[in-house]
Amino acid sequence: MRTKSVDLKKKAVLVLILLFSLLFGTCSPRKVADFNIVLIVIDTLRSDHLSFYGYHRETSPFLSELAGQSIVFKNAYSASSWTSPATASIFTSMYPFQHGVLMGLLAVIRARRDLDMEVKVNKIPEEIETITEVLKRNNFKTYGISDNLNIGQKQGFTQGFDRFQTFNYRGAERVNDILKKWKEDIIQGGQYFLYLHYMDPHAPYHHRQPFYRPQQGKKNITIEAYDSEIYYVDQYIREAFQLFNWKENTLVIVTSDHGEGLWDHGYMGHGYTLYREEIQVPLLFYLPENKIFKEINSNVSTIDILPTVRELAGLPPEKNDVGTSLFPLIEKTEELPDQRHLFSYLWRLGTPEREEIEFRSVVYKRMHYILKLPNSRELYNLNSDTQEQSNRFGSHQKSGRYLELKFSQFLKKAKKYNPKTVFYKLSQDKLEKLKSLGYVE
Ligand SMILES: [Zn+2]
Repeated sequence: MRTKSVDLKKKAVLVLILLFSLLFGTCSPRKVADFNIVLIVIDTLRSDHLSFYGYHRETSPFLSELAGQSIVFKNAYSASSWTSPATASIFTSMYPFQHGVLMGLLAVIRARRDLDMEVKVNKIPEEIETITEVLKRNNFKTYGISDNLNIGQKQGFTQGFDRFQTFNYRGAERVNDILKKWKEDIIQGGQYFLYLHYMDPHAPYHHRQPFYRPQQGKKNITIEAYDSEIYYVDQYIREAFQLFNWKENTLVIVTSDHGEGLWDHGYMGHGYTLYREEIQVPLLFYLPENKIFKEINSNVSTIDILPTVRELAGLPPEKNDVGTSLFPLIEKTEELPDQRHLFSYLWRLGTPEREEIEFRSVVYKRMHYILKLPNSRELYNLNSDTQEQSNRFGSHQKSGRYLELKFSQFLKKAKKYNPKTVFYKLSQDKLEKLKSLGYVE
């Protein structure tokens, strides 16, 4: 009798396991991708300077062509407004106050005067599994080339890469030179993940021909030069695409780490605030199959890239991803109601001339709330005031406070890692180059 009852129990457990498996799909193994994955980050590229995001000029003929066969997210936001925190968020699907990468090399240097030195920068904590490590663990060969010095080994960005090279703004041609050298190895090595971080739209802007046309006035000259850098980098992305024939069997994702202020709010540059021009970035997915054109208006974040890649590649979801897989939006014919609160965060070290700052922003539906701590509050209607010129906080305090509460509730509950710090010793060469880029006076 006893044995029989044990058998019955065993059977009942087996039936339950089977039912559970059928319900939750663990029985049917997912098909892991057999395609390559290419992630292209174009530094400092605000989406509204691309014609397929409505810009009045064609600054990126190749990307426009690619967008015509891609899933284009029209309202994509970065998790911060400068390179290190924003790119770490792309790599980890976490907000900056979670992964803790708040200080990068260039910002520290900018903030300090004693330049003969070692500087302290934040590093992506090793216990966080980055997009590269996820793919490496799933048998992708992993390669990265970054033309931004903030994205390097010291700062933890090279975790999981089989091969990685970082420069300090040498230009797209140099990035592609390395790519050409690596080409045979990459192709011979089998399925790969390739991360390319181009730098060209970052200041200082060159007057790139044949795009650049002489202008009058500082603002017009600057905007023309910025646009000419987009045109310039676009040619090299086309070259890379053709070099590897990514038309075949490759998922290509194109985005940016942050945007750029072009006197929209009286200043030029990024990492100063969280206005729309600093955080709204392009985001497109050129799928390995089904080259369809689709525009999606739902608000999304660059922290959604990693969970989307997981799902597109047939990998299981990860509970630590704060972003959401965009796969349902890519698949569905109708958009879903937009209920997400998307956050951005900026913290900047104080200098003798400039105060320490902390900004929090929330995009919800067509509202954008910006809090500069301790108590400067702004609320914009992104439908009627795309340029964020008319602060409505005074007349809509309740909405603003509600969004502020959403941020602080999330901040309180969110899993946070202790920021790791590492020391970085600068060579004279690097200092000279930083001076030429305007980082050091
Ligand atoms: Zn950047």
